[in-house]
Amino acid sequence: MAFCLAFLISIRHCRWAMKLCPCGYYNHPEVACVCMPGTVQKYLNKISGPLLDRIDLHVEVVPVPFGELTDKRLGEQSEAVRDRVIAARKIQEERFKDSKGVYCNAQMTSKMVRNICILSDTELLLVKTAMDRLNLSARAYDKILKVSRTIADLDNSPNIRTEHLAEAINYRNLDRDTWGS
Ligand SMILES: [Zn+2]
Repeated sequence: MAFCLAFLISIRHCRWAMKLCPCGYYNHPEVACVCMPGTVQKYLNKISGPLLDRIDLHVEVVPVPFGELTDKRLGEQSEAVRDRVIAARKIQEERFKDSKGVYCNAQMTSKMVRNICILSDTELLLVKTAMDRLNLSARAYDKILKVSRTIADLDNSPNIRTEHLAEAINYRNLDRDTWGS
């Protein structure tokens, strides 16, 4: 199987993986992409902006070297991650207890996003800069705030801090005009 590089795209509970170019090696750390100049951008442009806007997380997945697969060092245990997710869900249950039909951050309306995802001047400047540089849409802006609120919940933080917002912005990879150029 030649293909190793993909974007995992998450729409709530659904995940969708795609290659970044026809040959499948764009941005591969070890194998050169053989696509003609401009092909990658043309390929990625087939995904419409409005479709990308509806996707919460764009995550680039690069091949894992064999040495890392066999690495004995342990990362964070699944049980610890599970506990953090349960705790974040409880925070959201409490947050939306009076909002009919809304159970988690992903379901917030734009108005709720404005009322709940309050940013300080520092974070506002960061998101404004990202919007300008990455040419993000208003819908992508809402997605960033919702995802940053969830990251803050997973961190048990009452406020969205700079690191939460920066991580959420990083999940908008496919919005970037720089892909394939
Ligand atoms: Zn290629």
